[in-house]
Amino acid sequence: MKTYHTIQELQATGIVTAGVSLRTGGVSHAPYASLNLAEHVGDDANAVAANREILFQQTGLRDLRYCRQVHGKRVIDVDDAAGASLEDPPEADALISERSGVGLGIFTADCIPIFILDIATPAIGIAHAGWRGTFARIAVNTLAQMEVRFGTVPTNCRIHLGPSIQKCCYTVSTELRTQFAERFGSTVHDGTNLSLQVANVNQLIEAGLPSNSISISSLCTACRTDLFYSHRAENGQTGRMLSYIQLSVEN
Ligand SMILES: [Zn+2]
Repeated sequence: MKTYHTIQELQATGIVTAGVSLRTGGVSHAPYASLNLAEHVGDDANAVAANREILFQQTGLRDLRYCRQVHGKRVIDVDDAAGASLEDPPEADALISERSGVGLGIFTADCIPIFILDIATPAIGIAHAGWRGTFARIAVNTLAQMEVRFGTVPTNCRIHLGPSIQKCCYTVSTELRTQFAERFGSTVHDGTNLSLQVANVNQLIEAGLPSNSISISSLCTACRTDLFYSHRAENGQTGRMLSYIQLSVEN
């Protein structure tokens, strides 16, 4: 059973391992069946630990860092903060690093995992962007922190928006749609539905990213509950995927 989906757009560079876990191939029971990687959703902690072991063995990930996600826009430089560990994760919604062999992980079930690879430095970042994080410009904030810490230049970056809920399944209130259109342009919505992907792309282009440096997964988590967890499609009772990126260790 497949346990992860490789982000080819980034892994093709040859300098990173990047992917998102699937919901298949694990040991958790419904409504978390079966490869739930997050402890905070009510699943059995032993099952989550077993699932992480399965994923780590299959992907080769070892030293993976997490944060306690709060739908904000705080970014943690894990090279700097010893606390960005599994045991005591800091509150944040994005992680950055320029060290080889250190994995950065974000949990999602509809929200967008935003992968950032600065090919020149090289350095990496990953951000958790639901509607709140997107509205607060977490993608641009993560890029800005990489610029401060690592000297990252936007034109040297490749960005990927991973599997997440797409416009087809994301009906929102008129108020939210209006707020997004005012901030990110009218292309963010289509009738009653909002595209968080377009809102992120528009803010990244405004920040200097060439549009051809950004790729978007065509997989909608709410359409594909056979592969992914979907908070909305499963009425909030579900597991979480883990999105991860790690700079390869030079041989
Ligand atoms: Zn959909």
